[in-house]
Amino acid sequence: MKNKLIALLLIMFMATIFIMSEEETSAADNVKDVPKQYATEINFLIDKGIVVGNEHGEFMPEKNLTREEAATMIGRALGLKGTPRVTAFSDVNPTSFASGFIQSAYENEIIQGYGDGTFGPKRNMTRLEMAYLLSQAFDLEETGNVYYEDMPANKEHAEVINQVSTAGITNGYVDGSFKMNNPITRVEFSLMVARAVNTEFRVEAIEFQSEKKFVNATALNVRQGPGTNYQSIGLLYMNDEVTTYNKYGNWVYVKSGNIVGYVSQSYLQDKPVNNKIIAIDAGHGGSDPGASGNGIIEKELNLDVAKRVQKYLQDENVEVVMTRTTDTFISLSGRVDIAVNKGADTFVSIHGNAATASANGTETFYSTAALDQRALDSKALAGFIQDRLVAALGTRDRGVKMDNFHVIAKTPLPSVLVELGFMTNELDAAILKTHKQASAKAISLGILDYYDWKGR
Ligand SMILES: [Zn+2]
Repeated sequence: MKNKLIALLLIMFMATIFIMSEEETSAADNVKDVPKQYATEINFLIDKGIVVGNEHGEFMPEKNLTREEAATMIGRALGLKGTPRVTAFSDVNPTSFASGFIQSAYENEIIQGYGDGTFGPKRNMTRLEMAYLLSQAFDLEETGNVYYEDMPANKEHAEVINQVSTAGITNGYVDGSFKMNNPITRVEFSLMVARAVNTEFRVEAIEFQSEKKFVNATALNVRQGPGTNYQSIGLLYMNDEVTTYNKYGNWVYVKSGNIVGYVSQSYLQDKPVNNKIIAIDAGHGGSDPGASGNGIIEKELNLDVAKRVQKYLQDENVEVVMTRTTDTFISLSGRVDIAVNKGADTFVSIHGNAATASANGTETFYSTAALDQRALDSKALAGFIQDRLVAALGTRDRGVKMDNFHVIAKTPLPSVLVELGFMTNELDAAILKTHKQASAKAISLGILDYYDWKGR
């Protein structure tokens, strides 16, 4: 950014020399102390009668500009009536040189006083006041991706600073700051008025390349300035999308919805964090066939449906951890270990049910063992899967139930155990045989419902 600025200043400087060498004479010759590097702009103002030297023919470029001088310059630039007269302000002498311009600018809603009936004509004009004044006087409404490291939190202030910058009236200091409370010198203000009046003088607004990034932190402080010493003004959460603007060291200015401020770049990345890692557990296996009925062997049904869930969710960009993909025996604690060690955040165990021939229906279990939040999440997950399954299979809704089966109780993860239907019931068994893909899709959609509900 600084290189760009320096290059820009160099170009401006050289352009100024070039233009100066072509200029012959002007009314500006009467004013002695116009800085050479800004002669083009200042002489333009002098020729237009917007800037007038004092009785000694001096411009006094480095003197701080007073509010009455600013009003006068703007009044002349806009061709407002300058006849000295009584003003709306108690502290403006009606016979002073500026009174007419102050009153005209006030009537045109270009300037305001301090709200107590005073104008402060002899007070220094600040850079923020300059921004308000020029934005009003020249109807600068456009805003762009223009930010300074000290951009005020006050939205109105930030907007006018943005407007004068977007218009190319100013581009702040080379260190990337705007310093809104700094007084403005006569030469600085004159340059800005020249740029406002004559668009050929405008400088390139500092447009920052904005990028989309995603938060990779459970809670990220958004601060008023680039550093931990600045006050936190909001929080962003995992996978929140942000638009980044200018960078200061390891800090970057971001916008996300209504939140605007600085965050540490370390917690931003190009893509959302994929934190959906579901463990799918095909119940039983190997030497443990599970139950059976009507020609269905549970371990085979479970594995078949589990593999279909795996495929379905992978197509939905959800990472899937399988506790088994072949006909092998794995202990109950082994299944929990696989899920936890592979970073799964959630666990779903798939089973077929068995009892008397008349027992039928679909049910999903969760456990209230361990943490409250885990139990609440587990119950929600069970509800989502149960609803999807009953709708897809048309089986009897036996509901969401609480139990403490090992795989859903002895685990830190939100976990459920699904009983698809009763293999021992003729009608359920027929459905289980013909609805393996439908079962898998229903479980998958239930899991996706759950992730949506969790908001990740
Ligand atoms: Zn089972």
